[in-house]
Amino acid sequence: MAATAPKVLVVEDEPDIRKLVQYNLAQEHFKVLEAEDGEQALKILKRDKPNLVILDLMLPGLSGLEVCRALREQPETSRLPILILTAKAAEADKVIGLEMGADDYLAKPFSPREMLARVRALLRRADSAEASDTTKIYQRGPLKIDFATYEVFIRGKAVKLTLKEFELLRFLVQNPNRVLSRDQLLDRVWGGDTFVTPRTIDVHVRRLRKTIEADDRNPKWILTLRGVGYKFDEKALDQ
Ligand code: CA
Repeated sequence: MAATAPKVLVVEDEPDIRKLVQYNLAQEHFKVLEAEDGEQALKILKRDKPNLVILDLMLPGLSGLEVCRALREQPETSRLPILILTAKAAEADKVIGLEMGADDYLAKPFSPREMLARVRALLRRADSAEASDTTKIYQRGPLKIDFATYEVFIRGKAVKLTLKEFELLRFLVQNPNRVLSRDQLLDRVWGGDTFVTPRTIDVHVRRLRKTIEADDRNPKWILTLRGVGYKFDEKALDQ
């Protein structure tokens, strides 16, 4: 764990649950911030910049989903780990990784131990994502990327990518094993350029696969999730 205690924001309107979460986090020396609705949460997020958010879906006023979406739209919080709390597990599946971009969820009632384990896992994941941002070289299995020189090598052989293809690959590599919607890719790789359509993204993915995948008709690294988007399967690089 980092030298300074990670800050966790708990957004929950039910005082008992909020206190339970707050107490257990504080016991483990996390710094805990609390909000009882979405508006308050957004204010605290802006002001105190927490390292992680525990977000209840059912909130008065602005819903958890709306808070989630607002966070993903802002560059400063687009990668902030979000752990959803929900009474309905079935509902959570729709939230995770889809257009809402939450990272994980806990179904109520949950055990404090489970909650702490999820929080730690998400913070670890965020830490390593940040580290890979500053790392100049990515290397795993046959894929090597030099972020400083924009060079990509497959099995030691340099391949040629356009700038957009490179940026797309970089974003995929930096967000592995995660469902990325076309909207997210549009936003993060194309900067929300309104002239870019979802089809443009598909075309770029297809070209990228042609260049880096062994068999682009049977891709192993960049997977299509029908009707949802794409996922970079990092573990497939080890095979
Ligand atoms: Ca609630």
